[in-house]
Amino acid sequence: MTRFVKAVLLVLGMVVAAAPAAAQSEAKRAITKIAGDLYRFQNNFHYSVFLVTGEGVIVTDPINAEAAAWLKAEISQRFNQPIRYLIYSHDHRDHSAGGEVFAEDGAIVVAHERTKEVIIGEQRPTAVPDLTFNDRMTLTLGGKTVELIYVGPSSSDNTIVMHFPAERALFAVDFITVKRLPFRTLSDSYFPHWMDAIRKVEAIDFDILVPGHGQVGVKADAAEHRAYLEALYDGVLTGLRAGQSVEEMKASITLEAYEDWGQYDKWREENIQGMAANISLHRRGN
Ligand SMILES: [Zn+2]
Repeated sequence: MTRFVKAVLLVLGMVVAAAPAAAQSEAKRAITKIAGDLYRFQNNFHYSVFLVTGEGVIVTDPINAEAAAWLKAEISQRFNQPIRYLIYSHDHRDHSAGGEVFAEDGAIVVAHERTKEVIIGEQRPTAVPDLTFNDRMTLTLGGKTVELIYVGPSSSDNTIVMHFPAERALFAVDFITVKRLPFRTLSDSYFPHWMDAIRKVEAIDFDILVPGHGQVGVKADAAEHRAYLEALYDGVLTGLRAGQSVEEMKASITLEAYEDWGQYDKWREENIQGMAANISLHRRGN
């Protein structure tokens, strides 16, 4: 090996070794206003919201410890208010991790009772909730309100929505996205309860739909997402009853009405595969 080739390999090795650290420190983070004093926080492909009041701030999903530390510093610098409450949308680690960053400063951690059970049971790397509820809870701070509503099993068995009545906004994580397919094979999902959960969202009075992934939308996007799930569910159930294999259904269930939605090319086949597995758990053919 020539000295030159050795030098090139050495440089390549350094670039490869440096890549993971560089990717981590380049997380895309941003804060954008939704309405009034309600803001959206982005950490790469994950989003949460926070509400600023004259008596402190209510934050939601911390996402991870590094993201939460960044958000805590930004809130302190921009709004000069303490963080009083942290609310989890559900237990999944990629949304709930890092809660200790807010809890260690005295924020009260709020979640569904079942979210607390799963956080303890799965040993999620986050703060254990202090305050839990089953159906509904209204939090008020500095004259502002957020309503926490359990809508039944959907893309977990403990997902809640957060309704900000004055801002006419609703934060819904994972089980509703705006003009985008649900994530891959629909792991930890409950059908057809998931569609019932969206119907409960459709009965809430709001205008702005703020999902945990992807673009912000309007209330009508919730019903559109339900219609996609219904088409997927009906297509797969019909295929299974006709004796089709998953591979045959991937070819026949085209869902072409949704071909301009985000992740259609990447996730349609996995959606079919996941739905087939889910329906098969609760079906017995002849
Ligand atoms: Zn998610």
